[in-house]
Amino acid sequence: MREKAFVREVGPRDGIQMVKTILTAEQKLRWIRREAAAGVTHFEATSFVPAKVVPQFHDAAEVAQGTLAIPGIEAAVLVPNLKGAQRAFDVGVAKVNYVLSASEAHNQSNVRRSTDESIEDFRRIIAERDARGLKDRVVVGCGIATSFGCTIQGAVAEPRVVEIAALLAAAGAQEVSLADTVGYGNPAQVRRIFTAVSKVVGDVPLAAHFHDTRGLGIANVAAAVDVGIRRFDASLAGLGGCPFAPGATGNIDTEDTAFLLESLGFDTGIDIEKLIAVRQEVEGWLPGERFFGMVARAGLPKTYRGATIAA
Ligand code: ZN
Repeated sequence: MREKAFVREVGPRDGIQMVKTILTAEQKLRWIRREAAAGVTHFEATSFVPAKVVPQFHDAAEVAQGTLAIPGIEAAVLVPNLKGAQRAFDVGVAKVNYVLSASEAHNQSNVRRSTDESIEDFRRIIAERDARGLKDRVVVGCGIATSFGCTIQGAVAEPRVVEIAALLAAAGAQEVSLADTVGYGNPAQVRRIFTAVSKVVGDVPLAAHFHDTRGLGIANVAAAVDVGIRRFDASLAGLGGCPFAPGATGNIDTEDTAFLLESLGFDTGIDIEKLIAVRQEVEGWLPGERFFGMVARAGLPKTYRGATIAA
C-alpha cells in the first residue's frame, strides 16, 4: 500500500477567474465530472464572490449544486466573506474554503479590511455554520494567501504567517492552506514555514497552494512533501491567477503535480493520461489563453508506473 497524497483541482475556481471566456455551468461541471472519472477526488469547484467582482462566477450556486450529484468527490467552494458562506450553506455544499491574506496590503486590496478583521470574519463563518446545525456536515477550511511574499507589500513576516495559522486553528479551521499567491516562494522557505506552522495547528491538516510564476512551483511541492504535506492545490494546464495580486500567474499544473507525487511513490489515484485528455477539451474552450505543464507536452515516460495500474 502506497501512502496517499491528494491533488485538489482548483482550475474551475482559481484557473478561470482571469480568463477572457465565461464558461457555461455545464462546461464547468463536465470538466469536474471528467476529472473525477480520471481519479481526481478533491476539487475547488467555484467561488461565491459577487458576480460584479468576478463575472466568471455568476453561476456559483448552479455549479456548486451540480457537484453534489457527482459521486465520490469532495467539492469545496471558495467564500470571500460571511455573505458568500451563507450562500454556500444555502446550497448545501460539503466544504467551504475561506481565504484571507497574510499581507495586510493584499488583504486590503482584496477585501478592504485588515487581516485581523478577516480572522474575525472567519470566526463568524464558523459560528454561522454551527448555528445552522451544520457542524458535522460542512467542513470549513481557510487559506492564507501571500504566505510566502506579496507583490504589493513585498516581504511577509514568517512569524505573522505562523500566528495567523494558529489563530485559524483555534477558531475551528478544519484545514489550513498556505498559499504562494504570487509565486515568490522557494523550497527552503517552504520547508521552514510549513515546519513552523505544523507546530502550532495541532492535528489540523495543512495544504499547499502554489503558483508557478517563476518556475519553482513543482520544486516547492517536493519541498513541502519532505516536511509532511500531502494536500496540494493545482490547476489543469497550469491555468490561474489572482485579479487582486498584480503579476500573479498560473497555479502549478495538475498533471505535473500528479506525476511528481506518483514518481515519489505516493498514490494520488489519478490516471494522468485521462487527465491530459480532459485538458485537451478544456483548452478548446479557452481560445487565446496560455497553457502550461510539461507532462502534457512530452507525454509520460515509458518507464512510468502510476495509479493507472491500481485501478
Ligand atoms: Zn491561487
